[in-house]
Amino acid sequence: MIIPCPHCGARPHAEFTYGIDGTLDRPADPASVTDESWIDYLYLRNNPRGPHRELWHHTLGCEQWIVVERDTLTHVIASAAPA
Ligand SMILES: [Zn+2]
Repeated sequence: MIIPCPHCGARPHAEFTYGIDGTLDRPADPASVTDESWIDYLYLRNNPRGPHRELWHHTLGCEQWIVVERDTLTHVIASAAPA
């Protein structure tokens, strides 16, 4: 899989580290949410089939976080943008 880093250009995925589901919103005030909501945010993930937003870190490149819109079924990347 080739990831088009917006800073470095097209690079092999081995240079990147998957970070997290890009659709998650961190609670603004973690102290005010229930333990169950915090556990959901930290540990529970969907396993979508099809288009998905993900955060990737260009670990062996520019070391920047990027937002990748990737189809999890075909691995086709629709877009990549700075996070
Ligand atoms: Zn990069």
